[in-house]
Amino acid sequence: MVYMISITSVITAERFHTLAIHASRSMGPFAAHNELGINVNTKQRTGMSVYTLGTGGGPIVSSSRAGTSTAIRVDGATYVIDCGMGSIRNYRSHADWGELRAVLLTHHHSDHIYDLGAYLVTGWQVPGESFTRPIQVYGPGRPNRMPALDRKHEEQIAARVADREMTSTEEIVDALLDKVFASDVVIRMADEGRDEPHEWIQAHNIQIPEPVRACAVENRHPEMEPFEIYRDELVTISAILVDHRLCFPAFAYRIDSRYGSVVVSGDTAYSENCVKLAQGADLLLHEVIDLPGILATFPDGPTRDGIEVHLRESHTPYSEVGKVAQKANVSSLVLHHIVPNTPGAADLGAMLDTARADFAGTVSVAEDNDVFEIGSVKLQLAGTETKRSLV
Ligand SMILES: [Zn+2]
Repeated sequence: MVYMISITSVITAERFHTLAIHASRSMGPFAAHNELGINVNTKQRTGMSVYTLGTGGGPIVSSSRAGTSTAIRVDGATYVIDCGMGSIRNYRSHADWGELRAVLLTHHHSDHIYDLGAYLVTGWQVPGESFTRPIQVYGPGRPNRMPALDRKHEEQIAARVADREMTSTEEIVDALLDKVFASDVVIRMADEGRDEPHEWIQAHNIQIPEPVRACAVENRHPEMEPFEIYRDELVTISAILVDHRLCFPAFAYRIDSRYGSVVVSGDTAYSENCVKLAQGADLLLHEVIDLPGILATFPDGPTRDGIEVHLRESHTPYSEVGKVAQKANVSSLVLHHIVPNTPGAADLGAMLDTARADFAGTVSVAEDNDVFEIGSVKLQLAGTETKRSLV
């Protein structure tokens, strides 16, 4: 299958930088067509579009980037991957609650789930602002052991974290609905006649296939095949384990529709599993960090030393990210989860240039509210347009 992609860059009235990818497929020879100047309808009801709701990485509050979150809309149904801080406002700028079908969490670091509670309760039977079907929340289950580098490390950290427990996606959702927002839920059920929220919000811990023998200590990033976690009439969503050091399990996701395919890396160091999941995808949204840039923002001290190890071993530097896209043979690479996330702190030009040097496809550094249109109606018209462009 041959993919051809052209990119149009448009500045909208809201001054948001909007990118539209028009992808067409052809089984034979083709010529690219370029529709310069098209302004993307951000509430397009047919086709497949990607909305970068939040493009900042890490727990630091940024004035320029919401926390990591991506919405993928397919024929008017929306699937959200991660719920970073401040992203919910951008979701509502592009999509309605009635079209939300699923929320997928790549992992449980706070910067990926800060807004989860808001996503869940603001769409729960608010008149005119409500889910129209139960939404499905997918994410990691509780790890089998406290994640550690090895057995010795496990012993070392045992005393420090002995009184604490990790949690699962189902437990997080239960805690939000039944603890954090318990009073709100009870009052609104009694006062407004709302239904039980668990009927509208259904959480699922992703079950890692047994043969993989994943383990929080000995085998956090096993070589494996992607596995399906969700399917409806519009999309199939697959997952694979990626390498986020001690944050286990951590997943990358792939959404396939009749229009094309989008992969979101989640937080990860260079991962062969991510390469495998993304193979041949139209668009890969991959995390990226500017390591010297983020380290320059930290004062010296033991906490800096600790986080430096985390940053080095849990994330993908821009010197590596183009290689992931090239090896995965994707059509386009979009960099998000930008670290450092504060204005001017990351060298975005170096990120772009370095990734472009390693990857033959198109590369973009995302900003909040970018829109990437994939396939859509253009797919069905490919033959006609190809013929016209050859005249
Ligand atoms: Zn993380």
